[in-house]
Amino acid sequence: MTTNRFLPNLPNSTEASTGIATLATMTVAPTKIIRGTQILTVASEEIARLGQRPLIVGGERTLTIAQEALLPPLQQQKLEIATISYSPDCSEARLEAMRQAALAHRADLIIGIGGGKALDAAKLLAHWCRLPVVTIPTSGATCAACTALSNVYTDAGAFVYDVPLRRCPDLLLLDYDIIATAPLRTIRAGIGDALAKWYEASVSSGHSEQTLLIAAVQQARVLRDILLQKSVAALKQPGSPVWREVVDATVLLAGVIGGLGGAQCRTVAAHAVHNGLTQLHNSRNTLHGEKVAYGILVQLRLEEMIQGNQLAAAARQQLLKFYSEIELPSTLAHLGLGNITLGELRQAAEFACSNTSDIHRLPFKVVPEQLMAAMVSTTVPVEAYRQTGELVGANEESGFKKKSP
Ligand SMILES: [Zn+2]
Repeated sequence: MTTNRFLPNLPNSTEASTGIATLATMTVAPTKIIRGTQILTVASEEIARLGQRPLIVGGERTLTIAQEALLPPLQQQKLEIATISYSPDCSEARLEAMRQAALAHRADLIIGIGGGKALDAAKLLAHWCRLPVVTIPTSGATCAACTALSNVYTDAGAFVYDVPLRRCPDLLLLDYDIIATAPLRTIRAGIGDALAKWYEASVSSGHSEQTLLIAAVQQARVLRDILLQKSVAALKQPGSPVWREVVDATVLLAGVIGGLGGAQCRTVAAHAVHNGLTQLHNSRNTLHGEKVAYGILVQLRLEEMIQGNQLAAAARQQLLKFYSEIELPSTLAHLGLGNITLGELRQAAEFACSNTSDIHRLPFKVVPEQLMAAMVSTTVPVEAYRQTGELVGANEESGFKKKSP
């Protein structure tokens, strides 16, 4: 299931997830990023330089935005435009239908507009058709607009595998006016997804002596600090300068960190927990970044339980306070899974602990029973460390100092 026909001549996801792949090929950032307000008119000239027959991929809601904001300037450039919805999901079956649509339209350019799944679908379609791709995020919920990676799901929304792409998007259009119309919940989710960069990168690459990995991990720490400092103010004033800084953090900086760090520095347990949760039907009403935010707490809890890592315990307390301030989920109940059965919990944990899962980048072995215990104890108090406020400070300065595996 992890190797697939969308992946010609590239390291497969198994290789990437075990860290065997080298950084010989780097896909750091989009070739060009245009950001600002009301940029689609200006940007239509840039789009026209990339192709004359674009196929626009989006979700139902975002194709409506595309009709209003994107089509008129593109029509002025005299482009031949077709549109297609990626729904029900960025799945193999839907990607095949989109490929047929691209062939029928004789598309020479793919434009993705929407959230993470719409952009993942557009990028993977362009990768497969060997066409240039433009990404237009309509929320700050993920860094998918930036990265050379697409997730593939079933039609029902269960994560199946991810695909490293040949290159990052050719053009990224970050229009703050469009993003400001998205529900506030999406930028919260983006904050959760972007925070994970630090907690995952510091575990998978915190001891690396490679220049680019050191840079990626340090940038992830900077990203976390920006989010801890600015998110509360940003959420109070969507569209404000501080809100734009947080959008830049979640969409652009998070993406560039992923590109700089490459496959070795991407995801660990927080995203593995997300992938496990997507296997449960009842988890489908929550966003990627909301599950990942919860997954960070589970990862810290594992480090605390299995390694006795006190810095992880302190970091978890710090995040619990932050999550309650900005309303990110910290328990299964917050994710709408308060009535989860033992069988469902095991199903999610077993998927997250499967052989090729990124959870195995943790510096210790994890079995499903341990993960299940961590998943139900994300908010447990840390009595022993309660008085030691300086532990949070120590973590701020130095990151996690892991014991040798
Ligand atoms: Zn993510």
